Amino acid sequence: EQYTPANNRYEKMKYRRCGKSGIKLPLLSLGLWHNFGDNDDLEISRELLRTAFDNGITHFDLANNYGPPYGSAEKNFGKIFKEDFIQLRDELMISTKAGWDMWPGPYGNFGSRKYLIASLDQSLKRMGLDYVDIFYHHRPDPDTPLEETMGALDQIVRQGKALYVGISQYSAEDTAKAAKILKEQGTPFLIHQPRYNMLDRWVENGLLDTLEHHGLGSIVFSPLEQGILTSKYLKGIPEDSRAAIEGGYLDKSQITPALIEKVKKLNEIAQSRNQSLPQMAIGWLLKDNRITSVLVGVSKVSQLENNIEALNNLEFTSEELHKIEHILKN
Ligand code: NDP
Repeated sequence: EQYTPANNRYEKMKYRRCGKSGIKLPLLSLGLWHNFGDNDDLEISRELLRTAFDNGITHFDLANNYGPPYGSAEKNFGKIFKEDFIQLRDELMISTKAGWDMWPGPYGNFGSRKYLIASLDQSLKRMGLDYVDIFYHHRPDPDTPLEETMGALDQIVRQGKALYVGISQYSAEDTAKAAKILKEQGTPFLIHQPRYNMLDRWVENGLLDTLEHHGLGSIVFSPLEQGILTSKYLKGIPEDSRAAIEGGYLDKSQITPALIEKVKKLNEIAQSRNQSLPQMAIGWLLKDNRITSVLVGVSKVSQLENNIEALNNLEFTSEELHKIEHILKN
């Protein structure tokens, strides 16, 4: 049936300004890396997007190779977009990326001008969009001159195919270099997308300072360490979990007894705060104002609803923070 978004959607969400830009992003955004491919149920994918938007989640994050197969998340998103969201285009921030392997041969990977421009054209076709709100270079390329990659991002904006640009997985040092080039070119550089969660804190060693210095926002991926920062793996590997998927990005072998011990202790603190562990893990990231948005993935509507409730308790006492720090450092 025809989708009518919830009238009170903007009362349910909080928004944070993205660096020193004109854009505000929802504290939670939805990522389409998993759960939108051709092996997934399109009606569940649709429910995830509708539930997100009904709760004020205005930002959907994609990439050229999300699926599987590559391209299918964009294609499936495009189908749902056309049916449900086309009238709502101006209420949405839609992003895509290129930088990882996408098509065979030397022009379908890394950071050349050739790859980035062709890839975005393909992405726009698959999604049925005239432009994306944010286009990212998905990962640093050690061999292509940064000037070439940043020049491609600039051209994409001048062609009207993206409103803003971003980079992902760049070190603090490379981010500063990119920011300098983009500033000289006059390119609207909005955001960095790094990996950040309780178990992976590299951004605290310089990147967040660099972003603040350059007036850039951040949206952090894998905030729940792909699901490890939930209670689901405390008693083995559930059949419907990401770790149970063969050949996926989360391998069973990563879920070690030592890690589960840690997660158990974190879960106890979450319980003492009357929260689920994913809720606490999200709140813990948002305590730093330099984190503009937390980019979650979800396989079920109930998970999304659970994560949204994190926003009801974002305060931490110094004692709680101390206890968490102690668990993470041991
Ligand atoms: P998360 O760390 O949020 O992991 C998502 C998984 O955690 C879900 O699929 C689900 O797993 C589980 N989960 C989420 N919420 C709950 C809950 N409340 N209760 C129980 N389980 C829950 O993020 P992702 O690793 O999926 O990354 C999020 C997004 O970040 C991606 O979709 C993508 O847009 C972006 N990303 C960007 C990258 C980059 O290089 N720039 C790299 C990776 C991701 P299950 O399937 O087991 O149910």
